[in-house]
Amino acid sequence: MKNKKLPLSVKIFAGLLIGVILGLISVEGGILDSTIFTGNAGSALNLLKEYIKPIGDIFLNLLKFVVVPIVLLSIITGIISLSDIKKVWSIGIKTILFYLCTTFVALVIGTIIATIFKKGFVILDTTGAEYQAKEAQNFIKVIADMFPTNIVAPLLNASMLQVIVIALFVGFAIIIAGEKAQPFANLVESANAVFIEVMDMIIHFSPIGIICLISPVIAENGPKIIGSLALVIGIAYVGYALHMLITYSIMVAGIAKVDPVKFFRGIAPAMVMAFSSASSVGTLPLNIDCTKKLGGRKDIVSFVLPLGATINMDGTAIYQAVCTVFIATCYGVNLSMSQILTVIVTATIASIGTAGVPGAGVVMLAMVLQAVGLPVDGIALVLGVDRIFDMGRTVVNITGDSACALCVSALETKK
Ligand code: ASP
Repeated sequence: MKNKKLPLSVKIFAGLLIGVILGLISVEGGILDSTIFTGNAGSALNLLKEYIKPIGDIFLNLLKFVVVPIVLLSIITGIISLSDIKKVWSIGIKTILFYLCTTFVALVIGTIIATIFKKGFVILDTTGAEYQAKEAQNFIKVIADMFPTNIVAPLLNASMLQVIVIALFVGFAIIIAGEKAQPFANLVESANAVFIEVMDMIIHFSPIGIICLISPVIAENGPKIIGSLALVIGIAYVGYALHMLITYSIMVAGIAKVDPVKFFRGIAPAMVMAFSSASSVGTLPLNIDCTKKLGGRKDIVSFVLPLGATINMDGTAIYQAVCTVFIATCYGVNLSMSQILTVIVTATIASIGTAGVPGAGVVMLAMVLQAVGLPVDGIALVLGVDRIFDMGRTVVNITGDSACALCVSALETKK
């Protein structure tokens, strides 16, 4: 009975803690193997993979299922409630400017700290490192692909940028059509209310979902984080932490007038979710919830956050900067100033094109490496521990979205 009164955020933290402990004791050859499984190294890990991970997958599947209707309906509802196309533009432009500026700052932080610490990178042997780069992405293609050729495929394939474009067109059209569109607007608003309830039900399972998502990851990756890679991971995490503590604190305190301590406390459940799921899109429902509770305006949050989960990836940008410097060092290349600028520009574009799903950032790292003429095979050096980078960068990604949403809310309300 008492348990029921615990706030969800506390349960989410407990989930993380239990998941981490379960993962740590299940590492290959660890406590569980040597006691319960009496010397059968790997048994505990297999058990986690076979029985616990699928439960985490169910949770992640449910989040993915709810995210397309939530993004579509909440953006349309957001636009309808702003009821003025000029207002939507003004919010849209502010949002994109915020997103671009914070990503730029993230890249500067990432590049500076990686350059400072690069002497500590033990040069890894690059022979045998092979990575099959996916189809090369370029900026024009990312933009062209944003525009759907039909209305169903983007929803079926969860192509978030296309879903956002559909939502923008429909939202604007409802405002322009006025009276005649009222029944359709009512339908969208009612469907939005229904899916918010569905989302709430799913979010209530997050503590269990988090235990099941995080424990196999810790058990599997724990032993890999040793040596030179530990330093690169450590540097990326220092970058993540600095960007959140400096950039976001200044933004929320200076523009949104929210106490940074209150901000981080309020957003913490979403951060835990992002850390466990490594998916910005999967974290979107909880992030919307937390950001509204922090005082974000409902209409703005439902417009700014879905956009951010798709295009604003400050953590991914930091990771790309750190890994590029690391890979360059391993290949004995000293990046010139113009190469560093190229990294900053391409990583900004790459982070926009990165989908908010686990592992997407690695694909885009290939684009950055190609732009500065580094061998794409270098990705193989960091691929094995990508999940560890990913958990941290997703936390930064979603925290940045929330900070921007609060700032845009404050600016629009002041107006
Ligand atoms: N997993 C990240 C996210 O969902 C994207 C990435 O791989 O960098 O935000």
